Amino acid sequence: MQRPVTEEIECPHCRERTNVVVPHDDVELKPSRSVAAFGDYTTVTCPNGHEYWVYFC
Ligand SMILES: [Zn+2]
Repeated sequence: MQRPVTEEIECPHCRERTNVVVPHDDVELKPSRSVAAFGDYTTVTCPNGHEYWVYFC
């Protein structure tokens, strides 16, 4: 069984780093303050309570 892959991403608001689970380990993570209607993404809440979107490229 494969362990889930996590990567660190920087909050676009305060630069706190948060671990996010990624679908596989060779994706590029792109943080965004607003949602776009394309691609795979996940929502992240940083330790300071900012919610943002992370796209997998
Ligand atoms: Zn933040």
